[in-house]
Amino acid sequence: MRSPRRSFAREYGGLLSNRSFGGTQVQRTFYAAGQTGQQLLLGAYSALSRQIGMGAVKMYSRHEMLDVVVVDGKAKGIIARDLVTGKLERHSGHAVLLCSGGYGNVFYLSTNAMGSNVTAAWKAHKRGALFANPCFTQIHPTCIPVSGDHQSKLTLMSESLRNDGRIWVPKKKDDNRKANEIPEEERDYYLERRYPAFGNLVPRDVASRAAKERCDAGYGVGTSKMAVYLDFSFNMDRYGRIEANKHGLNNPSPEEIRKMGKEVIAEKYGNLFDMYKQITGENPYEVPMRIYPAVHYTMGGLWVDYNLMTNVPGLYALGEANFSDHGANRLGASALMQGLADGYFIIPYTIGAYLSNEIRSAAIPTDHAEFVACEDHVRDQLERLKNVNGTKSVDHFHKSLGKIMWDKCGMGRKEQLLREAIQEIRKLREEFWADVRIPGPLNGLNPELEKAGRVADFMELG
Ligand SMILES: Cc1cc2nc3c(=O)[nH]c(=O)nc-3n(C[C@H](O)[C@H](O)[C@H](O)COP(=O)(O)OP(=O)(O)OC[C@H]3O[C@@H](n4cnc5c(N)ncnc54)[C@H](O)[C@@H]3O)c2cc1C
Repeated sequence: MRSPRRSFAREYGGLLSNRSFGGTQVQRTFYAAGQTGQQLLLGAYSALSRQIGMGAVKMYSRHEMLDVVVVDGKAKGIIARDLVTGKLERHSGHAVLLCSGGYGNVFYLSTNAMGSNVTAAWKAHKRGALFANPCFTQIHPTCIPVSGDHQSKLTLMSESLRNDGRIWVPKKKDDNRKANEIPEEERDYYLERRYPAFGNLVPRDVASRAAKERCDAGYGVGTSKMAVYLDFSFNMDRYGRIEANKHGLNNPSPEEIRKMGKEVIAEKYGNLFDMYKQITGENPYEVPMRIYPAVHYTMGGLWVDYNLMTNVPGLYALGEANFSDHGANRLGASALMQGLADGYFIIPYTIGAYLSNEIRSAAIPTDHAEFVACEDHVRDQLERLKNVNGTKSVDHFHKSLGKIMWDKCGMGRKEQLLREAIQEIRKLREEFWADVRIPGPLNGLNPELEKAGRVADFMELG
């Protein structure tokens, strides 16, 4: 992880710079402009590539793990599908580490990549690994609102924006005026009003629930009325005045102040502003951003002990795939930290303790009866899916599941709605197994088949 360390922002004196994220009253987070995650990803990927180059890691890209092989109560390998050829493969090992991420896509619309799914963790669960807190989902307050039925993904606007963006809605219900036409005294900066100590940097769950509450009460903005404003004008002017002072400008005009303030904001968040403009067609330097909460991170997952081992000996879960204590908070910048801590500080040491007792036993050959049975089980499941031969697409079922989850098991949860959701998901599951249609081959590249397996697992998780 050397290169991301180099790319983090620094103070003039050379020390790493810090910025605030939601839920903290101190600046405690290292960052790289508005692209911290991207920089970490590049750093992690280049470190991985180096290990691949040295022969220490063998990479199986375009493979999907579809089951865990358990021999005499211990995890001893996996069954994976080559996504290009469709061939099932057996991989044997003294231990299995699952680092397969979170399952936010059970809600269909989320900020996660569409490839993020629950299959690996769910298959492990079916082999006896306990799941903890599956209901525990983080809803991020700062996302671009849903714009229609065509979407498969929602976009996160970095939480760092809440450092300088002020969140507000009109004081009047169903106010259809444009944001810039609403005078200052008719704006309700509801987070600053309700939580003066934290203001716009309240924890994510508090900011998310408050936005939902305002929109449900009729104060939402935009065409869908399911959005609130994130407005940078106040801080653009504040930064502009500071810049004017720094440059010794006497009596700068409001235009000059705004211009200098824009430059400061562009330096801090320029790439995020560009992204917002590309997606919405609105210029956030001129009009406030519209934001609404979206599913972002799952804090439930496979139960693990302090060594990151599940209750199945030899089966480990790291990062967002486990239920973890570190990620189970509501603050910014904790998830990547958990991934790094699990992978860098914990597992290299704890797995050694397990292997010291295991390594003396020979590797289990992949023609062992448990490998054969596990592969047969996976093949049966794939054939069963393919043979339904119904009329509705996998996406139809995924969207329907996501709607039930969001409406009845989303930000506001009530017993009655949860009971309804259980019944509706049961019904949807039956319909899925009776009417899903998966075109394309069983033994070859088939993204519909891949999606179908994942949606089948989401249905069971949901
Ligand atoms: C848009 C966005 C912004 C974020 N910003 C921040 C931030 O600023 N700070 C922060 O702390 N956190 C942030 N997070 C959260 C953080 O990025 C994730 O929690 C973290 O990356 C999880 O890491 P992971 O290695 O556990 O899983 P992932 O990064 O999700 O990796 C899991 C990998 O496993 C693969 N996989 C899944 N199932 C299988 C299978 N069955 N077989 C084979 N491979 C499989 C997936 O394809 C993926 O490559 C952000 C997340 C998103 C989506």
